[in-house]
Amino acid sequence: MRVEAFDVRYSYGPNLPDTLKGISLDVPEGSLYGIIGPNGSGKSTLLRVIGGIARPSSGMVLYDGRSISEFSPRQAARTVAAVASGEPVIFPFTVEEIVMMGRSPYLRPLQSESLEDIALVAQAMERTGVAHLASRRIMELSTGERQRVLIARALAQQPKVLLLDEPTAHLDVNYQVEIMELATSLAHDSGITTIAVLHDLNLAGRYCDMLAMIKDGQVAAEGSPGEVLTEENLLEVYGVRAVVARRPELDRPAVFVLSGSSTPSGAETDDWGGIADEHRKHDAAGG
Ligand code: ADP
Ligand code: MG
Repeated sequence: MRVEAFDVRYSYGPNLPDTLKGISLDVPEGSLYGIIGPNGSGKSTLLRVIGGIARPSSGMVLYDGRSISEFSPRQAARTVAAVASGEPVIFPFTVEEIVMMGRSPYLRPLQSESLEDIALVAQAMERTGVAHLASRRIMELSTGERQRVLIARALAQQPKVLLLDEPTAHLDVNYQVEIMELATSLAHDSGITTIAVLHDLNLAGRYCDMLAMIKDGQVAAEGSPGEVLTEENLLEVYGVRAVVARRPELDRPAVFVLSGSSTPSGAETDDWGGIADEHRKHDAAGG
């Protein structure tokens, strides 16, 4: 399903300034689309508006040409699933029970789950690698396991669109890669249009088909990772001096931050040379 935003504005209150100040995006069906930008730039708010949780004060969000605000709650829940960032998990449910909650848009009130629901839940847990945890309580799991359980719950919804808010936050690099590869496969193999807010620029550049860089509620840059992750944009939007290199085997940008200020701190050539050496060693090691 194609997802488009047209000149979306959003404010948290009548006396508050707009958090989103006219955002337009075009997310192709079956793509992995990354939203990046500094803290407080409006990424989570944008994801909530895209998901239909928050209603824009003007502009609109279209799913295959139809406004999400016209969907019934049930239709919306069958179309789009979201995994919020740092979602508190305070109830002692088992993993299987949590994932089964993803089936609720398909159940009638008081109707118990069918064999099909049980099979879809099992499938979703397989897909995210948590099947072996089915009867464990979610509170006893590690952050990485929990994140995969929440993605499984989203998949049990059989969504056409998946929204992930910082799905790799607080994860070790191996789990970050695992989640990004899962997201890639959901988009490319299963055709689920996947929009992910990411704060790791290198993961965003490595995995996403397209990126939108948000600054202060507006799109500062949109396009391929190579078009968006430029030294100019990083300076302009994040206020950091960085060098963007290319991983030739992937044709993907790799970002190395040099300093947090636009004022040269000296010795930058040496800094960069050292980092580049590390990078080459890493490549030679096959990583
Ligand atoms: P990001 O996800 O990019 O860090 P957010 O979308 O969470 O940014 O927040 C964007 C802006 O909106 C911030 O200035 C934040 O303080 C404000 N904001 C977020 N949530 C609320 C809220 N519930 N009420 C009022 N302001 C909010
Ligand atoms: Mg956020």
